[in-house]
Amino acid sequence: MKTDIAALLKAEYGPMWHDTMCDLPDGWTQPLVDMLERLYRLSSIDAFRDRVVYWVSVRVDVYGSSAMAFACPIMPSHTWTPGRAMACVEALTEFTGRTQETCRVCGKDGYLRTAILGDHGEGVFCDQHAGGDHAG
Ligand SMILES: [Zn+2]
Repeated sequence: MKTDIAALLKAEYGPMWHDTMCDLPDGWTQPLVDMLERLYRLSSIDAFRDRVVYWVSVRVDVYGSSAMAFACPIMPSHTWTPGRAMACVEALTEFTGRTQETCRVCGKDGYLRTAILGDHGEGVFCDQHAGGDHAG
């Protein structure tokens, strides 16, 4: 991810940002932003201390064919509701699903290319970037 984009997201999402997100390729920035936005909506306001209370801490792992997000609950388990927990699970799984069908270079629709199938670059790419990160 470009460092200026990472700096913007770090400023926008505060403690939910983690430097593992810098490892994401540029094309997967939008799936990340959409996930962070959904997780941010889980937050609550501490009016007494005048601040946002984040409910999860997030990390990502980047692979050739997808990325995964991992969330650790910050708030104690008795404060979670089934709806809130499911919203978190859905945000995490949708993120991984979208990286599996989004070009890692440009963010357009893509699919997994492998050498076995005769492609040059291995990973999730659109038709234009099917040759790998430096093609097109
Ligand atoms: Zn592309």
